[in-house]
Amino acid sequence: MALRFFNTYSRQLEEFQPRADKKIDIYTCGPTVYSRAHIGNFRAYIFEDLLQRHLEARGFKVHRVMNITDVDDKTIRGARESKVPLQKFTQQFKGAFFEDAETLRIKHADDYPAATDQRYIDKMISMIGALISKGLAYQAEDKSVYYRINKFPNYGKLSHIDLDQLQSTGRVKNDEYDKEHIGDFALWKAWDEEDGEVKWDSPWGPGRPGWHIECSAMATAILGDQIDIHCGGVDNIFPHHEAEIAQSEGVTGKQFVRMWLHCAHLLVDGQKMSKSLGNFYTIPDVLAKGYTGREIRYALIRVNYRTQLNFTWDGMKEARESLGRIDDWLQRLRECAGKETAKIDNQLGHEFEDALDDDLNISAALGFLFETIRETNRAMDENKFDRKTAAAWLKWWDRINQTLNFESDGAELPGEVKELAEARAQARLAKDFRKSDELRDQLNALGWEARDSKDGQKITRRAGAK
Ligand SMILES: [Zn+2]
Repeated sequence: MALRFFNTYSRQLEEFQPRADKKIDIYTCGPTVYSRAHIGNFRAYIFEDLLQRHLEARGFKVHRVMNITDVDDKTIRGARESKVPLQKFTQQFKGAFFEDAETLRIKHADDYPAATDQRYIDKMISMIGALISKGLAYQAEDKSVYYRINKFPNYGKLSHIDLDQLQSTGRVKNDEYDKEHIGDFALWKAWDEEDGEVKWDSPWGPGRPGWHIECSAMATAILGDQIDIHCGGVDNIFPHHEAEIAQSEGVTGKQFVRMWLHCAHLLVDGQKMSKSLGNFYTIPDVLAKGYTGREIRYALIRVNYRTQLNFTWDGMKEARESLGRIDDWLQRLRECAGKETAKIDNQLGHEFEDALDDDLNISAALGFLFETIRETNRAMDENKFDRKTAAAWLKWWDRINQTLNFESDGAELPGEVKELAEARAQARLAKDFRKSDELRDQLNALGWEARDSKDGQKITRRAGAK
């Protein structure tokens, strides 16, 4: 089957036509570093990770850019309230973002441009200048520069928004009185007292860029005028991505993005996540409940990106059980294969990848994986497996694990298990075997098995443990 994705622009599944050189440029809207990103944000980043890994599995060379928004209304407000310089304020959340992405085993993007980087500020200023000279932007009496949406014929095409309706229902804020149209958005925000030290010089006076122009400038500066795939959450469609199209195409006159892919919302216990409902979780919040990064990864990846994902604690338990089944299966296959290794796995089929070709149908792909696990386990029960077959399935797993990144690295034990395992290793070093046996029993009670080998102890999930 051909590779196809649901393009938000056409609202249709479209076949993805690769360029001749099999290179794909992807731009993904990254975090605004004013607070720690929540699990809903990471659901989108994990979908993008799956997209990149699948394209690479299909032989494409992916160049992915993820921006860091480190100057906007929220970051400035946060820095002001914490009474620290903007750079210092955003640095802590940048660090937290990379830490969480690592925990969730998300592949690094090739570039993480930051909006405050002078190179991109220069690019933003030159794009705004070009838009003004084309009549697509204007400086208002408040000294800010706005995009003139009525002059861009395609405005609203991505989000299917009706501009007249925007006029009648849009909220009019005090600082928007200077605009020609309620939907005109700021490209350059003139400095005001609340911005404090945060300002750059421009032909229109001191100020700072609007959020939307940041992405247009960073995307085109690094990837060029035309990008294959642009991703984000559905909440980015309007106005952010609509504005990105208007800005980029307004300057270049070329189609900015071939395919727009948007990730649906995440709900928690069927409700929108919010701090006031007490159902707002960051990655450290979930880790603190004893779950591991790979379990969170599983829980966030397992539903197709266009479907709302309902995060629940039962879902986390299921994630743990599912990964446990994979771990047990791999252990069995390894025991069965012994020293045998396979060079190729091609005879074992590509149903997993075929499912992902269909707009990243991860539920079908995982369904196929677990069906495979059931069937091969049955064959092993009936002693119908030889070492070569087991080795070939291990090779097959290596291939699909490049995309899933689910395999246990042993380092990812839940906190309590890790502590017991470390205590047991110490006890063995001290040759206190009574204590070591006690700790083994405690691990057993938690569903884990300690086995000793010449490389030290190996902690694995006990077969059949919940
Ligand atoms: Zn963006």
